[in-house]
Amino acid sequence: MRVSEAREIAPGVFLLTAGTGPMASNLYLVKSGAAWMLVDAGWAGSAQPVRAAVERLLGPGATPVLIALTHIHPGHSGGAGALSRLWQLPVYVHPAELPMAAGKYVPEFSMPLDRWIIAPLMRLVSARRRRGIEAGGDISDVVRPLGPRGELPGVPGWVAVSAPGHTPGHVAYWRSGDRVLITGDAVVTVNLNSLQGILLGRPDLAGPPRYTTWNWRTAMESIAVLAGLGPALLAPGHGQPLGIAVVPRLRGLAARRQGLRRRSGQRAGAPKAVWERLRRRLPKRGLQQ
Ligand SMILES: [Zn+2]
Ligand SMILES: [Zn+2]
Repeated sequence: MRVSEAREIAPGVFLLTAGTGPMASNLYLVKSGAAWMLVDAGWAGSAQPVRAAVERLLGPGATPVLIALTHIHPGHSGGAGALSRLWQLPVYVHPAELPMAAGKYVPEFSMPLDRWIIAPLMRLVSARRRRGIEAGGDISDVVRPLGPRGELPGVPGWVAVSAPGHTPGHVAYWRSGDRVLITGDAVVTVNLNSLQGILLGRPDLAGPPRYTTWNWRTAMESIAVLAGLGPALLAPGHGQPLGIAVVPRLRGLAARRQGLRRRSGQRAGAPKAVWERLRRRLPKRGLQQ
């Protein structure tokens, strides 16, 4: 699988893209002092090219100190097992994501794609084949839970911020020093819910892909939480980084979705009023839920 060369999008923040077209998924190599961390790990089939790109950037023999995942989905965590075993480093996820680390179908955590396609397909394959597929995605031997405040050991300046909804334990990674936010699938800049977005990759700030989202309402509330951080640069899991008018656009997205959810016949408030109501209901930032 093709992996792009690393491109610096903010001081010490390098973007790599694994795959092309609708399969393209972003990962970020991030420098903190003398240490590096890899945020997300691309697809299983991109592990070797990711390794080569990372080692080219870091120099011979140098490796990151950890891999931090925004969530466990094949385009983001697929390469994590191979890379962590190769480099002998841990993979951090939110504790709520741990039940999915074994690569098995977890009904309580399922999303539409699981229920409609994956689970019925898995019922058709033999138990042996199913165990083989599950073992391929199993990262339970290398995975560790993020700490209660979202701290990343050995990577000062960065913190995980809870942004659940797309998956139960989805997080974003935040550098408050210069307001860089790596969002995974919590917010993306290519609309994977529209045909133009999927086929043409047309840029558009959007919520997560619906067909792989566990809880849409929670996902929309998380967009409002991320807007509340006040990011200057949004580095998404799919699409190009966004550095212009990030906060108003995030607020607009959160408010628009909130407005759409209101009961029919009830007039949705102006975006600003909806935003204010949303903001009052937001949970405190940080990992605790
Ligand atoms: Zn995802
Ligand atoms: Zn994704």
